[in-house]
Amino acid sequence: MTDMTLAAARRALAAREISAVELVDSHNKAIESLNGDVNAFITTTPEQAREAAKAADTLLAKGEGGLLCGIPLGVKDLFCTNGVRTTAASNILRDFVPPYESAVTANLLSEGAIFLGKTNLDEFAMGSTNLTSAFGGVTNPWRRSGSDAKLVPGGSSGGSAAAVAAGMVLGATGTDTGGSIRQPAAFCGITGVKPTYGRCSRFGTIAFASSLDQAGPMARNLEDCAWMLEAMAGFDKRDSTSVDRPVPRYADALERGVKGMKVGIPREYRAPNMPREIEALWEQGIAWLREAGAEPVEVSLPHTKYGLPTYYIVALAEASSNLARYDGVRFGERVKADSLDALYEATRHAGFGEEVRRRILMGTYVLSSGYYDAYYLRAQKVRTMIQRDFLSAFEKVDVLLTPTAPSAAFAHDEKPTDPVQVYLNDVFTVPASMAGVPALSLPAGLDAQGLPLGLQLIGRYFDEETLFAAGRVMEKAAGFSTRPALFAEFGA
Ligand code: GLN
Repeated sequence: MTDMTLAAARRALAAREISAVELVDSHNKAIESLNGDVNAFITTTPEQAREAAKAADTLLAKGEGGLLCGIPLGVKDLFCTNGVRTTAASNILRDFVPPYESAVTANLLSEGAIFLGKTNLDEFAMGSTNLTSAFGGVTNPWRRSGSDAKLVPGGSSGGSAAAVAAGMVLGATGTDTGGSIRQPAAFCGITGVKPTYGRCSRFGTIAFASSLDQAGPMARNLEDCAWMLEAMAGFDKRDSTSVDRPVPRYADALERGVKGMKVGIPREYRAPNMPREIEALWEQGIAWLREAGAEPVEVSLPHTKYGLPTYYIVALAEASSNLARYDGVRFGERVKADSLDALYEATRHAGFGEEVRRRILMGTYVLSSGYYDAYYLRAQKVRTMIQRDFLSAFEKVDVLLTPTAPSAAFAHDEKPTDPVQVYLNDVFTVPASMAGVPALSLPAGLDAQGLPLGLQLIGRYFDEETLFAAGRVMEKAAGFSTRPALFAEFGA
């Protein structure tokens, strides 16, 4: 049962071929046997999940229940869950139990989803490796052929990606600020969707960079993501940036096809040192779409090269402001000291890991008087130019196709010591985040070492449906079905 897709499980539950209790039990068992190796979960809630599964079976027996009734999911530990510890993978929130539910998880619960636990991440979602977690790194369930080296799952939603890839859950929530859904999805051979900024409410999601953060689904395929996104999305008056537009039935867009669709290939994404395998896969993706009736068109996004540097100014500035609240007075852990200043200092030093401290320092720097105009304001202006690049490209084409990441998963001990080298991982994902447009990653093939590689589709504002349609054509052509070395098969 752990090898079903979420969509197949929905159908089997509705037809009463399987029960929610069986489905949840086999996934709880998978977590129990694999989490020691993978460390995808910070907190698990097996009993609570089992109780919820019984309630789901009662509804399903009456032919009732929401879109995701009885479906076992993981929740990135950045979404506040009422009564269930929520840590952001940080020591400063190690014992934080929220008294309320985030909008996205509340939406999922009201559609009948069942949460098996809270998934690991880079501390406060800052990273691309999931190695900055205060609860230990996550290990990618994939291995290079003939090697035991432990690989990173990507980040920051690495626990969610690894949990889905390893068969511990049928889907999981992620958040994406600069690539945190798409890059781990690519590293773990699964599908992830970053919707348009404003599509999902940020209420109750612990903030990293408020003008970029966006929740989205991670699952084995596009149909799974379509059902999850429909449940997660929607207007919420508690988030002033959430957008009041009807949520489409994304699953209905899957089989629209791409006949006559124009697919933009951004020239600037042809990085000179891109591995040849990734280049070849990209060509393959273009060919798949062409064969299905789409027309590839070369386009230019001239400000692409400013994406990373401006992202790492805007995101860090916002992070430094958002994380100011963790001062040991109102929230989280406190280290006692003789004066108030000393208390702040000691608390924040003990509570935050190295990467988070680095980002708070840089963010504070670019916002400080004298540097605000030179860095922050300038970055905001460049951000507008990046956004205009996309708007003018979308006058000519319907979607853009690019690789998701410049490499496959790398080993834990291959993580560069220079943080800037790690930031380069986000080169293909950050521009869409800066513009706020939707983007997804789907597994398109394996590299020579047997590791999954992802392709990215980027779309117009609120046009996730076209992404699902184009993605589905590629998904069928790719026929990606390989399972990772660590994969739980129980109860089937
Ligand atoms: N890797 C990027 C960063 O470190 C993106 C993180 C994210 O999307 N949350 O900021």
